[in-house]
Amino acid sequence: MKAIINLLFAVLFVISCNAQTKTSEEKNTSTNANKSNPKLIVGIVVDQMRYDYLTRFESKYGNGGFKRMINDGFNCKNNHFNYIPTYTGPGHASVYTGTTPKNHGIIGNNWYDKEIKDMVYCAGDDNVSSVGTKDDAGHMSPHRMKTTTFGDENRLFTQNQGKTIGISLKDRGAILPAGHTANAAYWFHGRDEGSWITSTFYMNELPKWVSDFNTSQSAESYLKVWDTYYDISTYTESGSDENAFEGGFKGKDKATFPYDLAMLKNDNRGFDILKATPYGNSLTTDFAIEAIKGEQLGQDDITDVLTVSYSSTDYVGHNFGVSSKEIEDTYIRLDKDLERFLKFLDTQVGEGNYTVFLTADHGAVEVPSYLQSMKIPSGYLDNKETKTRFANYLNTKFKSSNLIENVSNNQIFLNRKQIDSLGLNINDVQEAIVNELIGYKHIEKVFSAQTMATSNFTTGIESLLQNGYNQKRSGDIILLSDPAYISYGKTGSTHGSGLNYDTHVPLLFFGKGITHGETYDKTVIPDIAPTISALLGISFPNASTGEVLGIVIEK
Ligand SMILES: [Zn+2]
Repeated sequence: MKAIINLLFAVLFVISCNAQTKTSEEKNTSTNANKSNPKLIVGIVVDQMRYDYLTRFESKYGNGGFKRMINDGFNCKNNHFNYIPTYTGPGHASVYTGTTPKNHGIIGNNWYDKEIKDMVYCAGDDNVSSVGTKDDAGHMSPHRMKTTTFGDENRLFTQNQGKTIGISLKDRGAILPAGHTANAAYWFHGRDEGSWITSTFYMNELPKWVSDFNTSQSAESYLKVWDTYYDISTYTESGSDENAFEGGFKGKDKATFPYDLAMLKNDNRGFDILKATPYGNSLTTDFAIEAIKGEQLGQDDITDVLTVSYSSTDYVGHNFGVSSKEIEDTYIRLDKDLERFLKFLDTQVGEGNYTVFLTADHGAVEVPSYLQSMKIPSGYLDNKETKTRFANYLNTKFKSSNLIENVSNNQIFLNRKQIDSLGLNINDVQEAIVNELIGYKHIEKVFSAQTMATSNFTTGIESLLQNGYNQKRSGDIILLSDPAYISYGKTGSTHGSGLNYDTHVPLLFFGKGITHGETYDKTVIPDIAPTISALLGISFPNASTGEVLGIVIEK
């Protein structure tokens, strides 16, 4: 046995010694790259965009943004997330790797790491340093994502000649989409800095175009009054501006228009206030345009990849909720930013030379307190009461107050050492807990890790749980609450479930190689990456489980 292990190490060592050194970044014009491929792929993720934001606000959109993509491109109208939990980290990883947390390993935004016995952040990495700021906001990399993105496969296919750049206000929205081989990922650092930063994972200092952008007072210019784009009386697609279901900003009594951002800045973490306004999306668009110019993306026949994630939509949704005037205005303004961005691509890369897809990282629930006012079953989970009852149960049943290591993301992580020392069987403990918790109010389903690892669910919410369950990283017990029951404050929307309000999101394809049309056939998020890979004729992301949506590709 020892000999076999030694041999294995020897083989691994040889493999790592032979690993290819980085090839030159210089572009080689004598490549046999497919001349009919798009010069640039732009992946757009709109954070927390529900499908019905396309239809509800349709009359308010112009012809150059969302509607241009719908009218000239392909609209997948029944597109869903196919796993739980529907959070930002897993969402971005799934869009670009073409698979689910089961395989890519991004099981939450934060999760409990069973090995180091502590919470970890999906993009956190203490082995790298910040670039562009003195604080630790740049200690980030994609190292926890276990599989490749289509951008990674494009880098491999083009011998590093096709570039990949990731951009988002949120670090994870920039880092995970761009993948492991990205030339750069940039995200916004608010507080008193208001600048775009990165990490030493990508580079040791910011390129000139980024420093120039940071010193151009671009962020400052958006610290202005946020009022509605059109007369607020025409916003008939959202509820009244003043209601009981919205959070609002510190320093202002009512969550009503207008918002004086320069005045509110100091009470709301400085430049971070921009994140929670549509101007965060405008700033992202400005920066994406500078990235295309600064990095000369889409200027030759070797396909480049730009991933842009619009995060402000999520902050606004969390603060004001799905039916707010603020959400409607944010989407009206995002539509204008998209129009500006597409027009720029037309002139810079050339109309017909680039391909865009637009989707979301998850949807959002209507504010439960609002749903209650509409008599729809919904509510808030009282975690305190549940915790006490559960602790009493464990004490009585197992004579231990130390059986639980962590509870996070609706999962329970058991203390395996303690279970061993008590002479208990882990599967028996899991099953006993499942039977206990299923009796609790508003807990609709409970599964053990044992069930997740040994069953094969193909339909229903169980299959979504299984697609989100990673045997190595996930917990021992997995809980599902009743529909529209959330652990959250009484104002604003959140997300995370496998229900339609969280899973149903837009999927639009537009531009080079894309046919015009629409479908009501069900598509799922992991279909995006293999579809883009097929369009480019490159290898699929290494663990991709989605299908190629042949219907969207021009024959
Ligand atoms: Zn969110």
